[in-house]
Amino acid sequence: MKRFILPTIYNYSKKLLPKISNTEKAALDSGTSSIEKNFFRGHLDITTLVDKYNVSLNYYEKNFLDKTTNQLCELANTSDIENKQNLPNNLWKYIRNNKFMGIVINKNYNGLQFSHHAHSKIVEKIATRNPATAVTVMVPNSLGPGELLYHYGTNEQKKYYLPRLAKGIDIPCFGLTTEYSGSDAASMLDEGIVVNENGELGIRMTFSKRYITLAPVATLIGIAFKLKDPNKLLTKGNEGITLALIPKENNQFYNNKYNNIINIGNRHNPLDVGFMNGTISANNIFIPMSCIIGGEEKCGYGWNMLMECLGEGRGISLPALSVASSKLTTFGVGGYSRIRKQFNIPIAEMEGVKEKLAVIATKNYQLLSGQYLFNSILHNKEKPPVLSAIMKFKSTEYARISINHGMDILGGAGICKGDMNFLASHYNAIPIAITVEGSNTLTRSLIVFGQGLTRSHPNLLNIINSLEKGNDIDNFNLNLKEIIYSTLLNFSKSLYYSIYLNFISKNNKDYYQLHLNKLVSNFAFSSNLALLLGGKIKTSQYLSGRYADILSDLYFSYACLWFYHKNKDVKNIDKLLDISLNEHFCNIQESINLISNNYQYIGYIIKITCYPFGNIYKKSNDKLINDVSNLITTDTEIRNLLTSDIFISNNNKDKLNQISRCMKLITENGDKNEIKLLTNEIIKVNSYSKFN
Ligand SMILES: Cc1cc2nc3c(=O)[nH]c(=O)nc-3n(C[C@H](O)[C@H](O)[C@H](O)COP(=O)(O)OP(=O)(O)OC[C@H]3O[C@@H](n4cnc5c(N)ncnc54)[C@H](O)[C@@H]3O)c2cc1C
Repeated sequence: MKRFILPTIYNYSKKLLPKISNTEKAALDSGTSSIEKNFFRGHLDITTLVDKYNVSLNYYEKNFLDKTTNQLCELANTSDIENKQNLPNNLWKYIRNNKFMGIVINKNYNGLQFSHHAHSKIVEKIATRNPATAVTVMVPNSLGPGELLYHYGTNEQKKYYLPRLAKGIDIPCFGLTTEYSGSDAASMLDEGIVVNENGELGIRMTFSKRYITLAPVATLIGIAFKLKDPNKLLTKGNEGITLALIPKENNQFYNNKYNNIINIGNRHNPLDVGFMNGTISANNIFIPMSCIIGGEEKCGYGWNMLMECLGEGRGISLPALSVASSKLTTFGVGGYSRIRKQFNIPIAEMEGVKEKLAVIATKNYQLLSGQYLFNSILHNKEKPPVLSAIMKFKSTEYARISINHGMDILGGAGICKGDMNFLASHYNAIPIAITVEGSNTLTRSLIVFGQGLTRSHPNLLNIINSLEKGNDIDNFNLNLKEIIYSTLLNFSKSLYYSIYLNFISKNNKDYYQLHLNKLVSNFAFSSNLALLLGGKIKTSQYLSGRYADILSDLYFSYACLWFYHKNKDVKNIDKLLDISLNEHFCNIQESINLISNNYQYIGYIIKITCYPFGNIYKKSNDKLINDVSNLITTDTEIRNLLTSDIFISNNNKDKLNQISRCMKLITENGDKNEIKLLTNEIIKVNSYSKFN
C-alpha cells in the first residue's frame, strides 16, 4: 500500500489541488479559527460553549452607553441629516469631543479602549437613532487608519496620529476600492513607483478611488496601492500591495514641498442616507517613505495587514447596524401594529400581519444571539474570519428581511418620509450594508465555505501543504487517514441519529443538542465528501453557497441555544428559541437536499445518510407563529430583551417615544381618551406644502 497505492493517490491528489494565490494565502494566515472548526470535526457541545463564552459591559462602558451615547443620539435628527446630507455641526463636535472616533484606540494614545462588545453596543444604539451617524462613528473604529496604525504603525506614527484620531482632530478615511477593482480589490490598477528624488527615498503615486466613506471630510487619507520597485531601491520590504497615510496638512511625516494635488471633496450620494462618501484621486504625486504605514519595511505587506484587521471589524460594525435595524423594527413596528386599527381591530390581531411579526421577532432573536456570541468569542481573544464573514453576510440579510416586513406592516407610514417615519432611513441603508466590507453574494458564494474548508477543516490545509511540498507522503498519509476516519465516524453518527431521534420527544432536556449532533455530523460527513471535487469546489458556487448557508445556520443555531441558556429566566424565551431553531433546521435540511439533488453519486450517498427516511424538520406551526407575534406586540419581558438598549428620545413628539408611551397605556389599561389622542399622533405622516 505504502509503496504503490499511496504514491498514486498522492500524485492524483496533486492534480486536484486547488491553486492558492498569494492574496488567498494572506487571508489564510490571518486570524484564528473558532467554533466552526468543530462543525468540520462533527461535534460541538453546547455546555462547552455556555461555560466558555461570556460577555458584558464594564461600569465605564455602560455609563458611556447610557449617558454619553444617549446625548449623542438626542442631537441626531434623521430628516435633518437627510435633507442637508450632512450631520449638524454640533453633532460632529460632540462626536469628536467625546472620543466616539476613538472607541477602540488604546488609552495610552488617549482613546477609550473599550471592549469589542462595548464598540458593538455603542454603534448599535446610535444606529437605532440614525444610520448616517452610526456609519460616521463606525468607520474610524473599523478597518482604517486607526486600526492599521495600532497594529502595524511605527512608534512615531502611533504617537503622533493615534491621539489625534482618538480626539477627532484628524478624521480618517481608507481608500481601497477603485472603478475597476470592487470585490476583486487586489486587482487594483493604482500604482506607486519607488524613486529617489533629491536624495529622498519615496514613491511616485497615481490613484483613483471611489465610494470612500468620510473621504470628503477626511484629514488623514489611507490609500492602498500596488508598489513597484523597478530600480531596486528598496532596502527593506517588498513590491506588492502597500498602505500609505497621507495627511491633508503638512506634518513630521509629510511636507508637500512637491506641490502634490490630491483631488478630494467630491461626493457620492449613497441612497440619500446622508453620511460622507466620495472620491479621492491623485496623479503622479510624491510621497516620502515615512508615509507608509509601518515604514519601508512594511512595503508590500498591505494585503496581509488588511486581512488581519478586516476579520475582526466586519463581525462587529455591520452586524451592530443590523441588530439596530432589527430592534427598531421589533420595537416600532411591533408597537405600531398593536396601536393601529383597521376594520376596528388592531392590525397585530390579523393573521397575515402576525406571520410577518413572527418573522421580525425571530430575526431579532437570531441577530441578538449571533451578535452576543460573536462578541464573546472576540472577548475570548479569538479572531475568526470565517465567523466574521458569516456574521457580516447573514446579519445584514436578516436585517433586510426584518425591515422589509416592517415596511409592509407600516404601509403608508413607512413610505412617506419625514420626522414621523422611523424606518425609511434604515430601509434605504440596508443595500449599503449588504454591499460594503465584502459584498454578500461574494461572501456567501466564495468566502465562507472556501475559507472555512482551508482554514477550519482539521486536515485540509495540512494536506494542501504536503502536496505543495511535492514529496511529503507521510504527512499526507496521516491526514488522509484522519479524514477517512472522520468521514466514517460522521457517516455512522448521521445514520445513528437518523434512527435514534425518532424516539426523542420535544420534552427531552437535550432535545436541541441531540438534533444539533445529527446536523453537525451531517455537515462534517457531506463536506468531506465534497472534497472529492478537489479544486472544482472553488468555482462551484452553487455548492459552496449552500455549504455556506449550512455553516451559517449551524453557527446561528448554536448562538440561539447559547443565548437561551444565558437568558433562561426571561419568560417565553423558549418560544423564540423554538421558532428560530425550527427555521435553522429546516434551512439546513433544504440545503442538504439541494446539494444531494445536484450531485449524482455523492448526492445520493449524502441523501441516504442524512435523511434515510425522508425530511424530518417542519416549519413552525400557526400556534407558535401566533404566540411569538403576540410577544412583540404587547409589553412583555421578551419584547424588552429583544429591544434592550435602543434609543428612545425624550422628545414627546418623537414617534418611538409616542409608541412607547402608548404601549404602556394599553398594557396598563390606561385612560381611553389619552390612548386615542396618542394613537392619532402615532398614525400621522408628514405632509409638505412644497418641496425644496
Ligand atoms: C456606501 C459605500 C461605502 C463604501 N465605503 C468604502 C470605503 O470606505 N473604502 C473602500 O475602499 N471601499 C468602500 N466601498 C466599496 C465597497 O467595498 C465595494 O462597493 C464592494 O467591494 C463591491 O464592489 P463593487 O461595488 O464594485 O461591486 P462589484 O465588485 O462590481 O460586484 C458586483 C456584484 O458581483 C458580485 N461578485 C463579484 N465578484 C464575485 C465572485 N467572485 N463571486 C460571486 N459574486 C461576485 C458581488 O457580490 C456583487 O453582487 C464602499 C461602497 C459603498 C457603496
